[in-house]
Amino acid sequence: IKTIGVLTSGGDAPGMNAAIRAIVRQGITKDLRVKGIQRGFAGLLQGEFVDMKARGVSDTLQRGGTILGTARCPEFMTEEGQKLGAKICRENEIDGIVVIGGDGSFRGAQKLAALGINTIGIPGTIDLDIACTDYTIGFDTAVNTAMEAIDKVRDTSSSHERCSIIEVMGRGAGYIALWCGLANGAEDILLPEIYDYDEQKLVDNITRNFKRGKKHHIIINAEGIGHSTSMARRIEAATGIETRATILGHMQRGGSPTCKDRVFATTMGCKAVDLLCEGASNRIIAIKNGELVDYDIDEALAMKKSIPEYFYQISRNLAI
Ligand code: ADP
Repeated sequence: IKTIGVLTSGGDAPGMNAAIRAIVRQGITKDLRVKGIQRGFAGLLQGEFVDMKARGVSDTLQRGGTILGTARCPEFMTEEGQKLGAKICRENEIDGIVVIGGDGSFRGAQKLAALGINTIGIPGTIDLDIACTDYTIGFDTAVNTAMEAIDKVRDTSSSHERCSIIEVMGRGAGYIALWCGLANGAEDILLPEIYDYDEQKLVDNITRNFKRGKKHHIIINAEGIGHSTSMARRIEAATGIETRATILGHMQRGGSPTCKDRVFATTMGCKAVDLLCEGASNRIIAIKNGELVDYDIDEALAMKKSIPEYFYQISRNLAI
């Protein structure tokens, strides 16, 4: 192979730039030309390519977001869109593509692979919701950002003896909420995988907590449950305790990646290039039991992942 492409797709995540940098430089080291494809599959269909040079990725390792931009591209969900994408790759002599993104982006990569373009996926999402891997680029930075923000809300919550509902991201998955729940010592954690929508239980728990002498009651609510503001109004009415909602929102997606995100993004980026050089296609890179491994995309997308219930149980035990 002579030329590879790299794109970021779906939601952005801190550490994506570290992966792009690694792909560009590992590619150049292996005598490949590397083309950056801007704005994900949307940019592919528009032929938005940039030649990536070693110096062009200087000073990006520590930057959040993605220097290539990202987008959601409904056209790529259609067969015509996918065929056009493969044709554009061939016209531009792209022999292989690295797709950094989530499950949706891997479905796109799978389609390109089926059309004869070698593709490798790298899991990039703050949500940690990719079944085949224990780690996804951006999760570590996002949970650290959310954890620090929650510490700050907790300070003011204690001073005013309030109940605080803090909504964290994660789409349909509760990983960010669960990790913050443990890291911040939350009194309640509402996870889409586990929450039974019994608000009376929450109300009883809050009342009991304040009777026990607690100065605050922190509820971490996952995006997949949402409605934190109306929940706060109902809880305040039922408990008589001042209750506020804070929705952390997109701040969780930004910022300089943590050491872990930089190191794993870098190793995953290099591994993707190595696999393309070996002629591999339709693979996803993953971290499993601490090892850097790769799976067939079809198999990876069929895998299921469940929230670690023991983590949730102990959060209940410690919230006394
Ligand atoms: P993520 O990769 O973070 O899960 P999305 O689900 O939004 O994000 O997917 C990103 C993009 O991947 C979509 O906008 C679309 O272009 C492409 N994509 C998603 N699902 C498919 C599919 N089934 N077939 C082809 N392309 C897809």
